[in-house]
Amino acid sequence: MKLFRYEQVSDAAAAVARLTQEPTGAFLAGGTNLVDLMKLGVAQPELLIDVSRLLSDRIESLPNGGVRIGAAVRNSDLAADRMIRARYPLLSQALLAGASGQLRNLATTGGNLLQRTRCVYFQDVSKPCNKRLPGSGCPARQGYHRNLAILGTTEACIATHPSDMAVALIALDAVVQVLGPHGERSLPLTDLYRVPADEPQRDTVLHHGELITAIDLPPLPFAAHSSYRKVRDRASYAFALISVAVALESHAGIVQDFGEALLADA
Ligand SMILES: Cc1cc2nc3c(=O)[nH]c(=O)nc-3n(C[C@H](O)[C@H](O)[C@H](O)COP(=O)(O)OP(=O)(O)OC[C@H]3O[C@@H](n4cnc5c(N)ncnc54)[C@H](O)[C@@H]3O)c2cc1C
Ligand code: SF4
Repeated sequence: MKLFRYEQVSDAAAAVARLTQEPTGAFLAGGTNLVDLMKLGVAQPELLIDVSRLLSDRIESLPNGGVRIGAAVRNSDLAADRMIRARYPLLSQALLAGASGQLRNLATTGGNLLQRTRCVYFQDVSKPCNKRLPGSGCPARQGYHRNLAILGTTEACIATHPSDMAVALIALDAVVQVLGPHGERSLPLTDLYRVPADEPQRDTVLHHGELITAIDLPPLPFAAHSSYRKVRDRASYAFALISVAVALESHAGIVQDFGEALLADA
């Protein structure tokens, strides 16, 4: 692994300011994805700024009846939370369908949303990959692509995003709270992710130095009637081949409102 520096700062604003000065740095949360990519040589940050203790690890009710999930909330705590299980059961189900108990104990809400693709060529620095090295090609199109996308692809890249939680949050109309060098902004989760287009190296619309601070869920009473379904090669500890998150409101057998999201692989 390439040598790197590790720093802790006093608060979220200081983390943003510090990373903005350091073009080759990265935020570190649970480290369950970033550190793996560093070991593989895929990610080579020269500075890691630890945000796991800076950001909120609380799940709180909002005045509008919705819920705010701090970016440092661990996946296992979010899945087990009573309010989440009662009001947004598909979110709890999606989290429990991902990774392992040990990983979920470390993985954070912010880090889970920004984990990188599991495309085998992306993770192998001896192979070309437009996402890792723009312009080098996409061997997955003709090669191994069982876990990759059939929707939202481009000539440049057919990668999927591996997060189960993101699929559930999109069905719930989640909004991402972001702190950047120019202040705060919020954006619907559907607007966070980019199709690969001509810049497959950019997974999201976030700019360097922007920090996810929280995720907001709207009240959505009908989300109590929701479910997450993940199809995969093994019953546990495997990424999705296809996953669907659905919430329905129905009266007398007639659907009144719904939220849905789909991750479809090849
Ligand atoms: C063997 C294995 C199996 C897995 N299986 C699944 C699965 O089935 N389903 C699933 O959904 N996931 C799965 N995962 C992925 C796991 O859930 C992610 O690794 C984890 O959620 C990442 O969270 P983290 O806090 O560790 O992020 P980190 O690894 O710390 O960070 C990930 C990325 O996010 C950035 N980042 C972190 N926090 C913030 C923030 N607040 N603001 C801005 N940038 C930030 C980091 O700079 C980095 O680029 C698996 C992982 C492993 C290793
Ligand atoms: S699908 Fe995307 S991540 Fe995979 S090899 Fe092609 S460009 Fe790289």
